[in-house]
Amino acid sequence: MTNDDKRPGGADSFDVIVIGGGPAGYPTAIRAAQNKLTVACIDEWKNRDGSAAFGGTCLNAGCIPSKALLESTELYHRLQEEFATHGIKVSGAQVDLAQMQKRKAGIVRAMTQGIVALFKAAGVTPLQGHGRLLPGRRVEFTAHDGTRRELSARHVVLASGSAPIELRSAAFQAPHIVDSWGALDLDAVPKRLGVIGAGVIGLELGSVWRRLGAEVVVLEALPDFLAFADQQLAKEALRHFKKQSLDIRLGAKVSGATVKGGAVEVTYADAKGEQHVTVDRLVVAVGRRPYSKDLLAAGTGVELDERGLIKVDHSCRTAAEGVWAVGDCVRGPMLAHKGKEEGVNVADLIAGRYGEVNYKVIPSVIYTAPEIAWVGLTEEQVKASGREYKVGMFPFLASGRARAMEQAAGFAKIVAARDDDEILGVHIVGPMAGELIAEAVLAMEYSASSEDLQRTIHAHPTLAEAVHEAALNADKRAIDSLNR
Ligand code: FAD
Ligand code: NAD
Repeated sequence: MTNDDKRPGGADSFDVIVIGGGPAGYPTAIRAAQNKLTVACIDEWKNRDGSAAFGGTCLNAGCIPSKALLESTELYHRLQEEFATHGIKVSGAQVDLAQMQKRKAGIVRAMTQGIVALFKAAGVTPLQGHGRLLPGRRVEFTAHDGTRRELSARHVVLASGSAPIELRSAAFQAPHIVDSWGALDLDAVPKRLGVIGAGVIGLELGSVWRRLGAEVVVLEALPDFLAFADQQLAKEALRHFKKQSLDIRLGAKVSGATVKGGAVEVTYADAKGEQHVTVDRLVVAVGRRPYSKDLLAAGTGVELDERGLIKVDHSCRTAAEGVWAVGDCVRGPMLAHKGKEEGVNVADLIAGRYGEVNYKVIPSVIYTAPEIAWVGLTEEQVKASGREYKVGMFPFLASGRARAMEQAAGFAKIVAARDDDEILGVHIVGPMAGELIAEAVLAMEYSASSEDLQRTIHAHPTLAEAVHEAALNADKRAIDSLNR
């Protein structure tokens, strides 16, 4: 007798069916199985070589491959720029892009196969192919070989993710005009690379190819750099990117891109009028849109908003009874950890347990060098709220560990309330900012005060001391920097 035969309703009936196996969907399935529910996870992702893989955008074409390339290229950059300062002489260093890409592909393969192993251990039924929600919590599953089955569930969780936004003025035209997936897979370093959008993808992938020697021009429509981040943080980051010769042009509105003679001619308008730039490859990174192609049959009761996001309440319930939605296909930041948290909370709510996502405390990280990370409110947002506040800063120049690492750039900044000292936001630009922010996230999750951080012992010498000293500086009691 198989597990399938033991299920009430038979092999095609589950407690939970998750459609989408990205970082929102696969954790939903695992947590539901941990909660002793019968679960199937349907995913249709196919890689460029035709192989099916769980993990969605994040593992196959997003977070993981981009971080693999960022790590490799940063090592190469540091070898060229820093090793001599350390007293290490290297000559003849060369980039082997094929090997770099092979390493990246190996990491992706290991991570996506890891999901299959996790499913097996948890007892999740993996189904590779397309899922379509029918009325009454039934799901039509079409396997990659075309065979069709109708499944049913007590609960269905939609986790169909997102797709890159295409610009009419610069439509994708591989290999010359590509999206972020194409930009991760270039097989040669372009001499000139254009990027439309100075957002997270533009900065991370622009950095990768710049470090490998491409001349990189980034065209950003908005007049402000990283307009959604704390502006002191954004200014500091921009200064460093300029030093790295990333040519970031703000207030640049692209009106056309034409492939001619193996190059791309891009036309844009800025404050000075119409401009042109010619590049060998153009990456369009102007945001992502929710993806729900062929996901919903007529009459399911699930509603989409005007941007195509699946409408959900605070707990990720859709308008249809027993149907939930999580991750990039619903409101909120398009981040893997946000989707994961929504998914595990939904799986707990389905099992009758407690579940809550604290949307006020979701960290953001940009994995450039220096790294950029923040959580909570920017100084501008706190100022606009009218609440009295204080700011504490600590420059990494004053950090012994950062200097030892030859990475003494940037600062840690904390914004705290004047009345009750609650930490309202933490903003870090500097070495390992993405790791350092975890302390601030935990502190804010527990509604800590800046004094709580001040009284917490931080090991010496560590980068984390920067957060400690920034908290002390909020009350002008810093020890290792001037209390300005
Ligand atoms: P997805 O990862 O898009 O997964 C959805 C899955 O559902 C896909 O496999 C899709 O094929 C499948 N699917 C869709 N419809 C159906 C259907 N009807 N039937 C069956 N299967 C279906 N975020 C971070 O937090 N940190 C980062 O460092 C980071 N880096 C990124 C770098 C890049 C280049 C990109 C593009 C994104 C990055 N992101 C990062 C964003 C992150 O990838 C997304 O927020 C995350 O993948 C969203 O997870 P998801 O599960 O909601 O959707
Ligand atoms: P984004 O929203 O971060 O940035 C897009 C940028 O393009 C914005 O600055 C926007 O003003 C600009 N833009 C929009 N239209 C334009 C136009 N016509 N011309 C010029 N500029 C234009 O989006 P992204 O960088 O594409 O990333 C997509 C999503 O993936 C984001 O939501 C992000 O959170 C996620 N992501 C996260 C990470 C990370 O967490 N490290 C890394 C990569 C991607």
